[in-house]
Amino acid sequence: MSIPGGCHCGAVRYEVEGDAMTHALCHCTDCRRHAGAPMVAWTMYTEAALRVTKGAVRTYVSSEHGRREFCADCGTGLFYRNAENLPGIVDIQSATYDNPDAVPAQAHIQVADRIRWMADAHTLPAFERFPPMDE
Ligand SMILES: [Zn+2]
Ligand SMILES: [Zn+2]
Repeated sequence: MSIPGGCHCGAVRYEVEGDAMTHALCHCTDCRRHAGAPMVAWTMYTEAALRVTKGAVRTYVSSEHGRREFCADCGTGLFYRNAENLPGIVDIQSATYDNPDAVPAQAHIQVADRIRWMADAHTLPAFERFPPMDE
């Protein structure tokens, strides 16, 4: 299976081949702060499985060995590598797939760092679009 994806503005496009090793929702502080979001979904592949088909990513050194790759034009976070802890591996932000349903998420990780209210987020009221406005 080949999965296409890309950043918000379209400057960077990629394709990933084969099956993801895992698909984890990461609650760590680094992911959260870099994304500006309460968690980030990552699918894990061998580096050989990923091909950037358009444009080029920029790399942000987010920790001693952590490298976060993003679109320099629109800022979308795309890939994560860590040559020390995960040699030969690339993590892909699965929300950047053209079809983010392509690979179901399998686990929450780094919940030691999770924002407390995120643990119950699935129990909050949900609206197809927005809540009805009073007045
Ligand atoms: Zn972009
Ligand atoms: Zn993380």
